[in-house]
Amino acid sequence: MIEATLIFIFLPLLVGIAALCFLGKRKKIEFILFHRISKNFPKSLSEVSVKQFEKFCKEVKNNKINIAFDDGHKSVFDLAFPILKKYNLTATAFVASGIITGEKIDDFYSTKDMMSAENLLELSANGWEIASHSVHHLDLTLLSESDLLSELENSKNDLENLIGKPVKSLSFPYGKWNEKVIETAKTIGYEKFAIYGLNSIAILPFDDRNDMKSKISGEIGGLTKVISTIIPHFAKGTPMFFWNKSYKFPKHLK
Ligand SMILES: [Zn+2]
Repeated sequence: MIEATLIFIFLPLLVGIAALCFLGKRKKIEFILFHRISKNFPKSLSEVSVKQFEKFCKEVKNNKINIAFDDGHKSVFDLAFPILKKYNLTATAFVASGIITGEKIDDFYSTKDMMSAENLLELSANGWEIASHSVHHLDLTLLSESDLLSELENSKNDLENLIGKPVKSLSFPYGKWNEKVIETAKTIGYEKFAIYGLNSIAILPFDDRNDMKSKISGEIGGLTKVISTIIPHFAKGTPMFFWNKSYKFPKHLK
């Protein structure tokens, strides 16, 4: 039984990973993505410690890669903002806008863990881009046409009304998107898309200096690329090892 498991499951898996490492094209990265920063040792893959984040900021200094935070967690304002400021860096906050309009968000955070309208205003005044992560943090590919429109429109309008600046960038909850979602977003006025696992990569709690440097360079290959492709599939709402058929970067965005 053990031999059969080894031959039929682990061997093909290892061959697949090796092939992805060595044969696949290098991936272009536009956004380095974070979710939460923690004072203590990270409890999940979507958290990095303050210490790790400061190491990252030292490396990224004077580099042109976009730094982004998905969701709008309070630690972005409380912990990441002061460190970025120290290194003269700004970032993009992709916010599920329901957190400022008091709506229920489909996520594992409670509203008290999220940034306030005042926090977002202060980030915006300090040169940060405030961008959309929809309203309710739903899988946009599963919504009806009218729900999809309202998620994208209301988020854009509510954030623009708050900060008084245009909101042009969008990050998809759970990294879930398809052609219809992107086309709808473009008709509403979104111009730039951060797609977790495609043009965005996360800094992970166990990344060392070399991992960070290769991610910051904006182009990744080998094992780093494989890990960055697999990790988004573990996001909440994404069945493990489920490979979306539309998991290809659309031609018009290349
Ligand atoms: Zn999210």
